[in-house]
This record gives sequence, C-alpha cells and structure tokens, in this order.
Amino acid sequence: MVDLETIRKKAKEIVSREDVKHLIGWRKGTFGYRVTPYWVEAPEDAEELVYSPLCNTNLATSLTLAEKLPLPKGQEPDRRKTALLVRGCDSRAVVQLLTERGVDREQVVLLGLPCRGVVDLRKLKDSYPEDNEVADAEWKEDKIVLNVSGEKKEIPREEVLDDHCLVCRYPNPVEADETLGEKVEPWAEESHPGVEELENASFDKRWDFWEKEFERCIRCYACRNACPMCYCEDCILDRLNPTWIYRSNNYSENTAFHIARAFHLVGRCVSCGACERVCPAGIPLGKINQKLVKEVREKYEFEPGTDPEGVPFQASYNPQDQEDFIL
Ligand code: SF4
Ligand code: SF4
Ligand code: SF4
Repeated sequence: MVDLETIRKKAKEIVSREDVKHLIGWRKGTFGYRVTPYWVEAPEDAEELVYSPLCNTNLATSLTLAEKLPLPKGQEPDRRKTALLVRGCDSRAVVQLLTERGVDREQVVLLGLPCRGVVDLRKLKDSYPEDNEVADAEWKEDKIVLNVSGEKKEIPREEVLDDHCLVCRYPNPVEADETLGEKVEPWAEESHPGVEELENASFDKRWDFWEKEFERCIRCYACRNACPMCYCEDCILDRLNPTWIYRSNNYSENTAFHIARAFHLVGRCVSCGACERVCPAGIPLGKINQKLVKEVREKYEFEPGTDPEGVPFQASYNPQDQEDFIL
C-alpha cells in the first residue's frame, strides 16, 4: 500500500508540470464520513488530498465531463493533460474509455494506487454512526481503523466493505503511468453474490423482486451520473424528440429506464459499484450490472477494461461466438 505523504508529494510534482492542467483525487467532505472528488490545480492544493476506504467515487467519471463550449471568441481550449488517481476499478474504467475512444491516452496522466476496498456507507453507518466533526477511516492490512469522535476502533474489513469490493479481482491498477506503493494481493475469486440467488428464483419471483425495486426509483439519475461508462453527449433519457422514456415517475417508465441503461452497459460495466453506492433509494443496481458482467464473461470470455489494446465488446466479432440463444 501507499502512504498519504507519498501521494501528495507525487501529486505536487505532477501538477507542477507545464503539460498538466490539474490532477483529480479525493478530499474530505463537509460531513461525517463523506469524501468528495477534488481538483488539484496548484501544488499547495495537494495537501488536502486523502486516500482511504471512504474514497467511494470512481474518478474516471470526471474525465468525460464536458468543458463549457463553445468558448468565447478568440479563446483557445486548454489542451494540457488531466491527471487522475486510479485504483483497479478507476483504471479499468479509463481502459474501457480508451478502447471506446472516449478519451485519448495522450491527454491523461494516470497515477496508480493499490486498493484494499471502499466501504459501503450504509453498512458502516448502521453499525458505527458518523460524527460531523471527526469521522474517518483508514486501512490497516485486513482491518479498517475507524476514528469517530476521537475514538479509534479496529473492525474487520468484510463487515463494512462494499459488495463489489468484496469480490474485486483487480484491486491494483491495470493501466498507469506510475503506480505508488506495494501492490496488494487480490483476495477474491470469480463470484457474483446475489446474482445466482436471483437466477435460481422463479420467473414470478424475479418479476416481483424488480417490480418492488423499480417502483421505489425516484429517477434522480444519480446512478447514471456517477457511472464512468455513462458519458454519451446525447443520452437517450434526455431526448424529447423522439421521447424514448417519459419523465413520469412510475413503474413502467422506471423499468424502461433501467432496461435501457442495462443494455447500454453490456460488456462495458467495470464493476466499480459507484452507481449503487450513490442511489438514495438503495436499489440493488449491482445485481443487474453483475448479471451482465457474468453473462459476457461466461459466454464470450470478455472482461471490460482489462486490455488497453483491446476492442470494445460490442465492436468485436468472433466466428466462435455463441449464438444458440439467437432466435
Ligand atoms: S472495486 Fe476493487 S479497485 Fe475498486 S474500490 Fe473496490 S476493491 Fe478497490
Ligand atoms: S440513483 Fe437510484 S433512485 Fe436515482 S435514478 Fe438511479 S436507481 Fe433510481
Ligand atoms: S454501471 Fe455501476 S458498477 Fe458498472 S461501471 Fe457504471 S457505476 Fe460502475
């Protein structure tokens, strides 16, 4: 693993470069356990960077946020590079974006960080309520050390880790210009918790399950906005002419939204879990995404975001591909 001082020192070096516009990392949020994405614009800003089990956003999402266009007359776009802190899942998202030509490798600087998993704030707060003034967490080998109101407590990592992190097989960056610290030993085997359980349930039971879940969706689109793979400039959900999905918040339109998003993520979801973590309704989106991941891996031996030289899943064809399910 890597200590914070090493990260801050390296970040200062990177933002001092003439060809770098800024570095995107994380800093402490304004309440309790919250940590937010943070743009380091100058070397002194790097002092606020943090790296802990509370860093639960996927920073690759920031790479595709469009800058305000068109620029005022006579103003030139800033063509300097964007630097990014990347763990396994952030780097997989960047790799997927590279293969889709969503970002240009020459335009990004990737600073790799080994990872021991991030917490699911719901699990954490249920057992260890946060405090506005002091609520922090750090990794200590296979444990997490909490610091709440000045009181330190060691807890087993598995107790509070996000479900996606519990089964993460890529905790180290798969692509980086430089990786800081020692790599961690991956801890998980291929598995999709919760997916098998639903697969084994009857059709009616599955239908009831998703009906109850989708009815609770408030269509805030936080899941879409937090997802590094949802970056279309012209999203089908925002279109008015034609209108594919109406704004009405009901089971039918909500289901259409979730099915559309799921189809757009086939062979692209990098299993970071960011969408599920931001959902205010607590909808188990990971069960949908992990089902897609499982199908693509089992049927086509394809894993998104693992091969920088690879071809996007939906743009590749192999004569040996399974087709027995096509009617
Ligand atoms: S999915 Fe893997 S790399 Fe990403 S935060 Fe979890 S353990 Fe770390
Ligand atoms: S974040 Fe949750 S509530 Fe919001 S649109 Fe997504 S699934 Fe629905
Ligand atoms: S769908 Fe969810 S788990 Fe998959 S890449 Fe997007 S945010 Fe990550």
